[in-house]
Amino acid sequence: MSTPAATGARSLAPPLVRCVGVSRTYGSGARAVVAVHDAHCAVHGGDRVALMGRSGSGKSTLLHLLAGLDSPTTGDIAWPAIGDHHELRPGPIGVVFQAPSLLAPLDVLENVTLPLLLEGVEPHEATARAHAALGAMDLDGVATKLPEELSGGQAQRVAIARILASRPRLILADEPTGQLDHVTGEHVVGALIECAVALQAGLIVNTHDPAVGDRFAIQWTMVDGRLHTSGAVPCSA
Ligand code: ADP
Ligand code: MG
Repeated sequence: MSTPAATGARSLAPPLVRCVGVSRTYGSGARAVVAVHDAHCAVHGGDRVALMGRSGSGKSTLLHLLAGLDSPTTGDIAWPAIGDHHELRPGPIGVVFQAPSLLAPLDVLENVTLPLLLEGVEPHEATARAHAALGAMDLDGVATKLPEELSGGQAQRVAIARILASRPRLILADEPTGQLDHVTGEHVVGALIECAVALQAGLIVNTHDPAVGDRFAIQWTMVDGRLHTSGAVPCSA
């Protein structure tokens, strides 16, 4: 399949997110931890990136910065193709965490529908979009189940369906397979990739599992807070 990167159109489009010299330090003085040091990166629509690295290397910190959930200590981060910081969520950025974070009293359909209703989508359309997203994730059969009745893999796919229904431009997943067995994890990563392809969204998946990383054409690596990018992702400002 011809991608924007392959055609050269990618370099003309503004990136979904761009980091220039981004650092994030926790604490101060002798106890300061530089979790991310001088990161440069950019993600465009259609890019699918594995952010690899050992535990403690700074992956979650960088992902939270890219999601606008945290602010850099120094450097600049911007979302040129999306908008201002306050416009990121809910909406153009969807975040998937290690634990699926579903609302326990609500059934699966309600969990997927609620964010749409909060965004102001009409109830009829919200329900239709939620059903379509559940269908795409092969979850039609569990629409009326409660989160506690789901397997770990099903729950994570519901969390992905919730993202899919919101139609984000950029999907950020922080160790989404961290609590799953290998086979279930493969399904969940496949579901995330399908979701990104369907939306032509950018996708970054944090993982310390090389088997997960191998499924992504673009691989970035964090080593002790330093980001190493490669492949088609330019690191210039
Ligand atoms: P990873 O996701 O790769 O495991 P993290 O981004 O969670 O890495 O952590 C990077 C470094 O920052 C680690 O040394 C970690 O202990 C430290 N760290 C993460 N969050 C905090 C925090 N809230 N306060 C202090 N240090 C933190
Ligand atoms: Mg982490």
